[in-house]
Amino acid sequence: MSCTFCRIIEGKIPSTPVYQDDFCYAFADINPKAPVHILVVPREHIGSLDEAAAEKRALLGHLLWAAAEIARKKGLANGYRIVVNTGEEGGQTVDHLHLHLMGGRQMTWPPG
Ligand code: 5GP
Ligand code: ZN
Repeated sequence: MSCTFCRIIEGKIPSTPVYQDDFCYAFADINPKAPVHILVVPREHIGSLDEAAAEKRALLGHLLWAAAEIARKKGLANGYRIVVNTGEEGGQTVDHLHLHLMGGRQMTWPPG
């Protein structure tokens, strides 16, 4: 499997773990854009949000819950941002569904 995030989940590419359970793995982004920048990925390979079928709805909800749980554990009481870049125009560069959890600074809107 050539997918970068599958290789990270398998431990073939090193990463800094933040949270993990039966369904997802969360690790520090290698190129952080905020003081806290964590990626939450499903253990199973799903190419993007657009490729997530109806039967993945519970898994999608779990990923959001996990991100919120990590934010609480990280003490992001003032808020944070969850981003799911999807497809080329969405700015997705790794084709394995992932949530960006970013916090620790004031976010601006709209994003670039
Ligand atoms: P995207 O642009 O697809 O929404 O986000 C991909 C994210 O993955 C980027 O923020 C990038 O820094 C991160 N990333 C890419 N390759 C690696 C890697 O090998 N290790 C880690 N920890 N993060 C990565
Ligand atoms: Zn993958």
